[in-house]
Amino acid sequence: FEVPVPVNEPVKDYAPGSPERAEVSKTYKQMYNSTVEVPLYINGKDVKTKDTATMSCPHDHQHVLGSYHKAEKKHVDEAIETALEARKKWSQMPWEQRAGIFLRAAELIAGPYRAKINAATMLAQSKNIYQAEIDAACELIDFLRFNVQYMTEIYAEQPASTSGAWNRLEYRPLEGFVYAITPFNFTAIAGNLPASAALMGNVVVWKPSDSQVYSAKVILDIFEEAGVPPGVINMVMGDPVMITDTVLASPDFSGIHFTGSTHVFKDIWQKIGTNIHNYKTYPRIVGETGGKDFIVAHKTANPQQVATAIARGAFEFQGQKCSAASRCYISKSIWKDVEKFLLADMNSFKMGSPEQMENFITAVIHEGSFDKLASFIDQAKKDKKASIIAGGGYDKSKGYFIEPTVIVTEDPNYTTMCTELFGPVVTIYVYDDKDWEKTLQLVDETGEYALTGAVFSEDRYELENAVRALENAAGNFYINDKPTGAVVGQQPFGGARASGTNDKAGSKLNLYRWISPRMIKETF
Ligand code: GLU
Repeated sequence: FEVPVPVNEPVKDYAPGSPERAEVSKTYKQMYNSTVEVPLYINGKDVKTKDTATMSCPHDHQHVLGSYHKAEKKHVDEAIETALEARKKWSQMPWEQRAGIFLRAAELIAGPYRAKINAATMLAQSKNIYQAEIDAACELIDFLRFNVQYMTEIYAEQPASTSGAWNRLEYRPLEGFVYAITPFNFTAIAGNLPASAALMGNVVVWKPSDSQVYSAKVILDIFEEAGVPPGVINMVMGDPVMITDTVLASPDFSGIHFTGSTHVFKDIWQKIGTNIHNYKTYPRIVGETGGKDFIVAHKTANPQQVATAIARGAFEFQGQKCSAASRCYISKSIWKDVEKFLLADMNSFKMGSPEQMENFITAVIHEGSFDKLASFIDQAKKDKKASIIAGGGYDKSKGYFIEPTVIVTEDPNYTTMCTELFGPVVTIYVYDDKDWEKTLQLVDETGEYALTGAVFSEDRYELENAVRALENAAGNFYINDKPTGAVVGQQPFGGARASGTNDKAGSKLNLYRWISPRMIKETF
């Protein structure tokens, strides 16, 4: 059998007057004017509990989108039991059937549910339509289609046989269940982490971020309609510590597929260590965590190109991408030009609700994030070592709006050069041209992360110099391009150091983690 060769889902442009813009606007309004209740989802059934929490719009925080139910410990135990029960049949299901389900899910998103999943991502995560389209529609579709292709390639990898013996690798799923913890910032990641493990024959307990439950429900409904059988993917929300502790206490816990913060992942790693004697197998630990991603520009770099990369790389989706550019090192001789172009680019930014489609900047995800960003901005206003050359304003009266902010510092170790802020704040250090080599070393040694980074230069020797000097500083490295926007099938994504286990989402490397192959030798 061969599966259809995937191509990346074309990104629609939502031009004014286009039918897709009209459709997503209509869907947004309908969803805005109604409320939803999201129960837990266990064994293919909705489970309501005594405790609920509210979902609202980050850009309009008094507006309630609905509520979701919070699990008690017994619900998490039930989700685990039900997953293990479902495993008996699901793990025996031929891969063609699993492929059929997830390819169908991709078709449902590409067609009938495109407007809904985009509108949900705009309403509850405050993405503008373009950011929603590249994430919730295209990237999720790509994950689903490309992973099916990668699965078939993996299954085709077989050892040599000799006459008289037949060697075959049987690609079994893990023995137990997989725990997926997903973030608010990418609807695609929320869908992919449970789906990729399930595609490889695993059963899953999925805990979405509290801030993304609204679009997680849309994904879940699509999976159900596509034919994911009861018990294969179960969704629980609520107290993250209780849920995680309950999951990690199960002897059948066999892997975690995680995207979120570094400290949460490290805590989980530690807890897995503490429980290690209880497990039937060594759990797979796969995580994509924080970033403090850089742009470094040599004196030969094109200033307009550098400015555009900062404007897009730092401020798309309000900087709430693990990959967002947040520390920049610019050579003194081009800085004035870069500054001029950057401020001009930023002047064209409009900020407001994602419903008005011309708004490039919308709100940050919640009050906690808003307060944290505001306090870093206030600190920079006071510090002698820092000056704010653009933005610096914030207002949470209606939504959690932070102006895109550029801090320039004379100290390459200034707090905002080293700390992950996860918001629309970028810090720039201008280095002396003669310190280029020293600067590359500084880029490598600053902070704890190694997710993405970009170098700009027109000099091939210096590009190569940077590629070598920064070989451990970023899992996704860009030459003369912004450090965000990895595309499934084109740039497998993930970082090392404190940024994750570098198991490259959107590639075969990731799928290998969800199988436990059996080698069968038969002699004749
Ligand atoms: N894959 C995304 C990008 O390349 C970032 C994912 C994340 O923020 O976790 O921009």
